[in-house]
Amino acid sequence: MRIKNPVHTLRFIVQLLFLLISMLFLAGIIVCGLPYTIHNLCPYSAVCFGFSKNFLCSLNSSAFGLTIAFSFLILVLAIFFGRLFCSFICPLGTIQEYIFALFNKKSKKKKQVPHYLERRFSLVKYGVLAVTAILAIAGISYIYIRFCPIYAISLLPYIAVLGLILALLIIIVGIFIERFWCRYLCPYAALLNLFQYLGKVVGFPRLKIHRNLERCNDCGFCSLNCPMNIDLTEEEYVNNLDCILCFRCSKKCPKPDTLVWKKDK
Ligand code: SF4
Ligand code: SF4
Ligand code: SF4
Repeated sequence: MRIKNPVHTLRFIVQLLFLLISMLFLAGIIVCGLPYTIHNLCPYSAVCFGFSKNFLCSLNSSAFGLTIAFSFLILVLAIFFGRLFCSFICPLGTIQEYIFALFNKKSKKKKQVPHYLERRFSLVKYGVLAVTAILAIAGISYIYIRFCPIYAISLLPYIAVLGLILALLIIIVGIFIERFWCRYLCPYAALLNLFQYLGKVVGFPRLKIHRNLERCNDCGFCSLNCPMNIDLTEEEYVNNLDCILCFRCSKKCPKPDTLVWKKDK
């Protein structure tokens, strides 16, 4: 299947829609003092609160039960469709993507972190996942929540200062390194990757970017423009679990029909 421009338009519309919903939640707290924020819908709450002693009781609260169901749905979908959540839905990913675009639209010389360093740095997020899971099991997940940028952004008027500082740092560093938080630190990305890996071990097919080796001239434009700094010229299929299926590689490829969306084991 050829990745066509309507996919880029659809992605843009869906991203803006979810960003708008987040902003409306925020406006709801500031203007009307509503009790719900976008943090109530964060799929990572399955880890932050999932080990709590009151977990089963709190599922009675329809809002939290919905969030947990939403979280597991995204994780299961990741097995078959990869990280579409990251490229279409997550407001923190969208904010980072467009802030980077805004500050770099005039820069002609794109630079990427060397791939051998990228591979090492990208492992840090699994450590963050492990630490947050341990804190949650120990019943002290509030320590991580104090630093969580989603929490800080979604509860802006009542935020923890540390979370706001981290959110600002992520945004500032993200001007120079695209999707900095997504690539190196996001624990939900690590969890999504673990589910993708599980699907691979079981042998489920997953949507991936496929490179037509006969058409490709190895110019490397795809890798240079990949927001997750993936080296697409390494393999026929993009097996890297960090691929968010944003389709930018296909958009930047000078050879039409070279990068397409396909199922693969
Ligand atoms: S990696 Fe994390 S922050 Fe980035 S888009 Fe995915 S879930 Fe959101
Ligand atoms: S941009 Fe297209 S032609 Fe160039 S290396 Fe990537 S897939 Fe090949
Ligand atoms: S490989 Fe292509 S689809 Fe995957 S993250 Fe990079 S640019 Fe996006």
